[in-house]
Amino acid sequence: EKILEVKKVKKHFNMGRNQVVQAVDNISFDVYKGETLGLVGESGCGKSTIGRTIINLYEATDGEIRFKGQSTKDLKGKSRKDFNREMQMIFQDPYASLNPRMTVADIIAEGLDIHGLAKGEKRRRRVVELLKTVGLNEEHADRFPHEFSGGQRQRIGIARALAVDPDFIIADEPISALDVSIQAQVVNLMKKLQREKGLTYLFIAHDLSMVKYISDRIGVMYLGNLVELADSQELYDNPLHPYTEALLSAVPIPDPDMEGKRERIILKGDVPSPINPPSGCRFRTRCPKAMDICAQEVPTWQEVRPMHWVSCHLYQEESIKKEEANKNQS
Ligand code: SF4
Ligand code: MG
Repeated sequence: EKILEVKKVKKHFNMGRNQVVQAVDNISFDVYKGETLGLVGESGCGKSTIGRTIINLYEATDGEIRFKGQSTKDLKGKSRKDFNREMQMIFQDPYASLNPRMTVADIIAEGLDIHGLAKGEKRRRRVVELLKTVGLNEEHADRFPHEFSGGQRQRIGIARALAVDPDFIIADEPISALDVSIQAQVVNLMKKLQREKGLTYLFIAHDLSMVKYISDRIGVMYLGNLVELADSQELYDNPLHPYTEALLSAVPIPDPDMEGKRERIILKGDVPSPINPPSGCRFRTRCPKAMDICAQEVPTWQEVRPMHWVSCHLYQEESIKKEEANKNQS
């Protein structure tokens, strides 16, 4: 059952002087109820932008986002309020995202206050219950964020998101700012909460190994495009897009028998600017398999195997034919 549909969504930022940052360009994917969809890519690839566009912090430049079957653009009145409650976000930096002048209780209860869900004793009970849910307790309620470690602050951020009983949580690099030893704890907490509450997650990260651990499916982004999307295991076993292959080749393999069997692919050059992205396939300036057609035409987003999507000319029959014709001409 689809809970979220993202259809050909673009988010461009106008920087003036005819400069347009194409932060997100033509992205389409669905999220199913109860799953975790991981989104990975280097910084600046548009993963936070798509997250913020989905939750309506940014307005999409083009395309459509549907949550529970309803377009999020024209939500009004009660439907708008419901959406604002049902979809919550956990932010990357638990240091910056908690107001330093508010007590933990007030931070966690912010959503309860905004949505008028609980007051007085009931509000207090709910805060204590939420603190326990994330592995903290009542004695933490009246303290301030600076008194907590990074991991504890992220737990507070999670409690704040859970306060209003959401169905869908966008976690934007929730563990990137934490010590490695703490990362697994926070991810395990998120997994436990998902099982208990039937939550759906969009989990944004740049670290592929942690994403595989938490995600049912993984989408790979490059320079504002979604380039591949598949079941996590399928993506690891059969990466199709040359960028995914390169990313995976950099992930350490825990199995000693496999050591050295996957060759490290080093990409040349840097990620180009999203202001004037390369024509055709945006990855072509760094792609070890680039062909002539890659500069001429934008590859189509296609389901090339059941539930395995990729946008690359290598997997498009028409493109291969054109490429052969190109070659015969020259
Ligand atoms: Fe490489 Fe061409 Fe595929 Fe782009 S479309 S990833 S340049 S082979
Ligand atoms: Mg980001």
